[in-house]
Amino acid sequence: MPSKYRETSSHQELRRRLVEQLQAAGIRDLAVLNAFDQVPRHMFVPERFAARAYADEAFPLGHGQTISKPSTHALYLQALNLEGDERVLEIGTGSGYQTALLAMLADHVYSIERVPKLAEAARARIESLGFTNVAVRASDGTYGWRAFSPFDAILVTAGALEMPKPLLEQLRPGGRMLIPIGDSESQQLHRIEKTAAGEIEDTVIGEVRFVPLRGLGGHADIERRGGE
Ligand code: SAH
Repeated sequence: MPSKYRETSSHQELRRRLVEQLQAAGIRDLAVLNAFDQVPRHMFVPERFAARAYADEAFPLGHGQTISKPSTHALYLQALNLEGDERVLEIGTGSGYQTALLAMLADHVYSIERVPKLAEAARARIESLGFTNVAVRASDGTYGWRAFSPFDAILVTAGALEMPKPLLEQLRPGGRMLIPIGDSESQQLHRIEKTAAGEIEDTVIGEVRFVPLRGLGGHADIERRGGE
């Protein structure tokens, strides 16, 4: 964790308890547990939820979007098996919390968020923590980020109707992708591996419930207005 950030011991204590909870729920990857121990989630949730920031809860982020539960991020991060030298593409930056966790586990993180205000806020939080290996861009992530492709790992954190083709193309042979595919009520989390020969292996590793992915392979691009 970069050193810019200072905080109180109670935050550290709450994070330690979250880490214990994740361990009890079967998360074994020590690098993943260490990332949860270091990244201050209370900086990524809206102010009014800060007191509950280390509970295993999802919260509304505004713009009709949600910061996922820590256990969902843990499931993703453990399934990616990162070793530290990877170039990672994340679709659906949201709060930027998972982006920061990824920044601790990979070499470079490229994250795309379609709601410009969320992208800006996430970028500011990540910069204020001192990370220098993250780029956040406001655009439709279903087209990927060709300039920095191919990626060793791709994560989609919004529910797709089907696989956006550009993402498969931008996955490096030998790379892996996590993407929830289903309807707006629930999705199956697919772990896709591209073999060295370029073949696709697809395994369902769990049931999840995400806000809709918009764009290619996603839901119609309808703006949600008002409210959060
Ligand atoms: N990992 C985030 C999850 C945010 S919810 C967090 O825990 O904070 C999913 C996010 O995906 C939302 O912010 C939504 O705006 C974004 N999203 C939906 N469709 C997208 C698309 N086509 N490209 C980029 N982001 C998208």
